[in-house]
Amino acid sequence: MNVDEQVSNYYNLLLKRNAGEPEFHQAVSEVLDSLKIVLAKDPHYADYGLIQRLCEPERQLIFRVPWVDDKGQVHVNRGFRVQFNSALGPYKGGLRFHPSVNLGIIKFLGFEQIFKNSLTGLPIGGGKGGSDFDPKGRTDGEIMRFCQSFMTELHRHIGEYRDVPAGDIGVGAREIGYLFGQYRRLANQHESGVLTGKGLTWGGSLVRTEATGYGCVYLTNEMMKAHGEDLEGQRVIVSGSGNVAVYAMQKAQELGAIVIGFSDSSGWVSTPKGVNMEKLREIKEQRRERVAVYADEVEGATFHSEGTIWSLAADVALPCATQNELNAEQAAMLADNGVRFVAEGANMPSTADAIEIFRERGIHFAPGKAANAGGVATSALEMQQNASRDSWTFEYTDARLQQIMSKIFKNIDKTAREYGHEGDYVIGANIAGFKKVADAMLAQGVI
Ligand code: NDP
Repeated sequence: MNVDEQVSNYYNLLLKRNAGEPEFHQAVSEVLDSLKIVLAKDPHYADYGLIQRLCEPERQLIFRVPWVDDKGQVHVNRGFRVQFNSALGPYKGGLRFHPSVNLGIIKFLGFEQIFKNSLTGLPIGGGKGGSDFDPKGRTDGEIMRFCQSFMTELHRHIGEYRDVPAGDIGVGAREIGYLFGQYRRLANQHESGVLTGKGLTWGGSLVRTEATGYGCVYLTNEMMKAHGEDLEGQRVIVSGSGNVAVYAMQKAQELGAIVIGFSDSSGWVSTPKGVNMEKLREIKEQRRERVAVYADEVEGATFHSEGTIWSLAADVALPCATQNELNAEQAAMLADNGVRFVAEGANMPSTADAIEIFRERGIHFAPGKAANAGGVATSALEMQQNASRDSWTFEYTDARLQQIMSKIFKNIDKTAREYGHEGDYVIGANIAGFKKVADAMLAQGVI
């Protein structure tokens, strides 16, 4: 059987065994495409059922999360934790609270996390979790009771050497606080290393809040330099306005770029003169309001509830909201409007067809598993600080983040070249991330 047939067989079996999980299929399909190239050169990576084991989570937990709202009404949500692969270290990956969450979404995120965590060069395995709970419009008390109920089950399955969750969509500093409080109460010990993204006075790390956005911009700048450009004076579109997007905008502007638009699920704002970061952070982080409010309060900014942010003319695009937010038609729009670089702050924001368009139109493209790895890398730095009962300065931690992002870019660039696909950072990231995990799995036997 040739490599193509071998990989198609794995994939067809996976489709059958994981029906109704299109995002998981999409994530696996992209990685398997890259692995065909590895297997043609190094066939031993198919030995000992390695590929099948890699695509099957080590453990999948689904649990009931009952909670009581402010009016005394009972709600029942579903909680998930997928512990995908621990060959390199304890499972590590965020928790997402969003009504769209289901097992397939958590599996796609957990699968991506394996390769991303491997690319950081730090000893962390891959996992992901969350719930279909919708935090929008909920009071502080409701959020707290939900987090406490969620942790009441999850606490049995996590630990600093077992599984270390963090935030993701809908889970920020406030939620991590409530989750950690309940864990500490149930475990009857102050185990800092069990969660990352903690508050600075109780085990958190400086730069963790900024890390995913900053890291995405550091990697973007490295990619641009490799092609004779940098961010100075460039027009940048950033989708979303959550944790990743806000700090991507901030760092891009610090490096001399002009952020000409951002968005949320209600629409997008065009900001031809750049973004007033202080104002945006006040609206999003303190007042927790929608992006339309920014346009109401800042001169020169306009809100659009129709159309797409991807129609803006720009040089660089950073999708930082959610999966499959950028399709083929929009990718073509970006190319037509002058975009030359795209880096994914979010997980899998570009559809497979959009990535094909980037390839065809010569857009330099950094996939999420490389471009947004700065968040989890800094989480691993938080774990290091917790283990040594230490806390590092902002400058030192930021310098470590920059080094990590620069190493990731060099690694994916070199790997793409080695395997004959120079400049294809999707292939570079998939292969470089895969080989480290695969070597560990082969060394550790069939488990
Ligand atoms: P936040 O919850 O802080 O922000 C999410 C942003 O995306 C909000 O502006 C939100 O708008 C928008 N958004 C979410 N879902 C949709 C949707 N279905 N349609 C349109 N817009 C949407 O999350 P983060 O910033 O933490 O995460 C953003 C992305 O980055 C995710 O893909 C996440 O997995 C990825 N990521 C996050 C990391 C982190 O450290 N936080 C690390 C690595 C990746 P609205 O408020 O209207 O919902």
